[in-house]
Amino acid sequence: MKDLSIIIPIYNEAGNIQMLFERLSSVIREMHVDVEYVFVNDGSRDNSMELIKGLVGTNPEVRYLDFSRNFGHQIAVAAGLDYCTGNCAVIIDADLQDPPELIMELYNKWKQGFEVVYAKRRSREGESFLKKFTAKLFYRTLKRITSIKIPVDTGDFRIIDRKVINVLKKMPEQQKFLRGQISWIGFRQTYIEYDRDERHSGTSGYTYKKMLRFALDGITSFSNLPLRFATITGFVVSGIAFFFILYALYERLITRNYVPGWASLMLAVLFIGGVQLISIGIIGEYISRMSSNIRNRPLYILRETNLQEPDQKSE
Ligand code: UDP
Ligand code: MG
Repeated sequence: MKDLSIIIPIYNEAGNIQMLFERLSSVIREMHVDVEYVFVNDGSRDNSMELIKGLVGTNPEVRYLDFSRNFGHQIAVAAGLDYCTGNCAVIIDADLQDPPELIMELYNKWKQGFEVVYAKRRSREGESFLKKFTAKLFYRTLKRITSIKIPVDTGDFRIIDRKVINVLKKMPEQQKFLRGQISWIGFRQTYIEYDRDERHSGTSGYTYKKMLRFALDGITSFSNLPLRFATITGFVVSGIAFFFILYALYERLITRNYVPGWASLMLAVLFIGGVQLISIGIIGEYISRMSSNIRNRPLYILRETNLQEPDQKSE
């Protein structure tokens, strides 16, 4: 059992690994803790894996998990948590956007008895306007529509206690939204603030497509409001339609001055059609997630690792 595990998801980070490891190890040296580094290679297409294996040769505390393909950032972190052995674990990005020097502060707060200490972004450097804007919008929407308190402007950069790791390992859902799950779990949580740096090298592995899927995972995992939206709009539209029907009948049967109402007919058909499609889409989002959980496939597939298979029963 180590004091601290550092979990680093890696997707095409060849330009960052060396620098990251240097900065991490100099922080760790100052902290005097027994550490293990868990690099999770999430199907990188560059030579990240060779670089990690290079580190393993000279540093016995370096561990790795090598995925058979790209499974996504959240799953990479989940795998790291499954296999790590520390009393607590830090989750950190490999691109040096999360300054490794903060780990000391996170660790000290953990020592004070907090089970979760997350790092909240005071500012974000070097990211596009669109990314910052969508992120801000997403965190605020999520906050409004979920019943749990997911902190805004907070990524996965945080330290979590072994107790939290063990609960996470028992949450088998395929759609990982770790920051939501960790909020849901509870315990004593606190935060520190930091300024998010620019990516050191390479480009973001989060395409807009991946970000959208991530956002939808977060919402569908922690809120039923979209489903309720379908019901509510259904009622509202039916209510309006009811009065229109009365009106139409009145015109047709009583006043008899009906006109060929092509425009209003089209409007009504298109509007109701749109509402129906949105509602079906929302239901589809939930059903597709349910079915992927029912299929019960493994969350990730390993090519190789120098870590021990986690023993699920010994907790
Ligand atoms: N990452 C990953 N799998 C992916 C995409 C990203 O493991 O499919 C890793 C990446 O190597 C980095 C972290 O997740 O360590 C954060 O990703 P990135 O910096 O690309 O996201 P951003 O900071 O732009 O949101
Ligand atoms: Mg980044």
